[in-house]
Amino acid sequence: MTETINIEIHPIEKSRIDAVDFDNLVFGRSFADHMLVVDYKDGAWQTPQIVPYGNLSYSPAMMSLHYGQAIFEGMKAYKSESGDILVFRPLENWARLNKSAVRMCIPEIPEEIFMGGLSELLRLDANWIPDKPGCSMYIRPFIFSTDEYVGVSPSKTYKFIIFNCPVGAYYSKPLKVRVETQYIRAAHGGVGFSKNAGNYGGSLYPTKLANDAGYDQIIWTDAAEHKYVEEAGTMNLMFVINGALVTAPTGDTILDGITRKSVLQVAHDWGMKVEERKLSIEELVNGIKDGSVQEAFGAGTAAVIAPISTIGFEGNDYVLPERPEDAFSRRVYEEINNIKIGKKEDTHGWVYKV
Ligand code: PMP
Repeated sequence: MTETINIEIHPIEKSRIDAVDFDNLVFGRSFADHMLVVDYKDGAWQTPQIVPYGNLSYSPAMMSLHYGQAIFEGMKAYKSESGDILVFRPLENWARLNKSAVRMCIPEIPEEIFMGGLSELLRLDANWIPDKPGCSMYIRPFIFSTDEYVGVSPSKTYKFIIFNCPVGAYYSKPLKVRVETQYIRAAHGGVGFSKNAGNYGGSLYPTKLANDAGYDQIIWTDAAEHKYVEEAGTMNLMFVINGALVTAPTGDTILDGITRKSVLQVAHDWGMKVEERKLSIEELVNGIKDGSVQEAFGAGTAAVIAPISTIGFEGNDYVLPERPEDAFSRRVYEEINNIKIGKKEDTHGWVYKV
């Protein structure tokens, strides 16, 4: 159970839920009845409000549209078989939102507003949380600057909002990814570790070029040399090499993924060797050729695990072996999903019951 905070609730007059086809949910296209809205002004976060989900009206000079003070998070809530509302590691998302906030000169959100507001919102829209296998409620918390002012400086007012999208089971077909050696996502000293809107805007064009060449996603490499693997799209990258789980260490160029953390922990619990280290493209390509790279996959909230079938590099495609039934990436996917929905004991305290 959660912190009690004062929240003003303005419920919707008539729920929109009957208009939603829960058997055919498209990711990010359906929005639950309510949203949490909290204003920042006069140096403080104000009383949280829960209002019907709907449009907001702003000045064309709203600062976030021009200078990019906009950060967000993504997480999921599930219904257990007994009907409990379970959120996966939300305090990690809260902490990461505040890390992004500090970097982007945005005021941090107190835990009780984030957790208390989220809990109340999920309780109010509980019947929007799908209970079919694999389905969930995707939660989108975000903060943006709202001053009406044309001048590059930190805004004095902000809005923190959480809205929720019921989403269907996410099946990721094995991905064909291309190693990016021209464009970059993040450089040391930059904002790669923060989840700010601009990082995603900047990724669209290189990703489009990769899509046009027949690839699903990009593997980002380090900005200095394009030599080491960083991450892919909205996922951290992981490999099984000679039986060990290998992934790039997080730093200021890589988003500290919560799925990544969870996969590393499960691997550790299972007694698997875990290596957080730099992995060069050369090692990766040679390892695919000689068979030492057994699995490659992305890890992130949306898909949890997205297997990679092919890695393109300098015009050549390197194909990973078919995943056997007992592949690590299959087993860890099952394990994490079972913990999320309350089917497996939560030994690490990851599941937050609303
Ligand atoms: N990297 C990037 C750039 C992302 O946007 C995401 C999605 N938040 C991830 C990695 C995976 O993070 P998480 O497991 O917390 O969803």
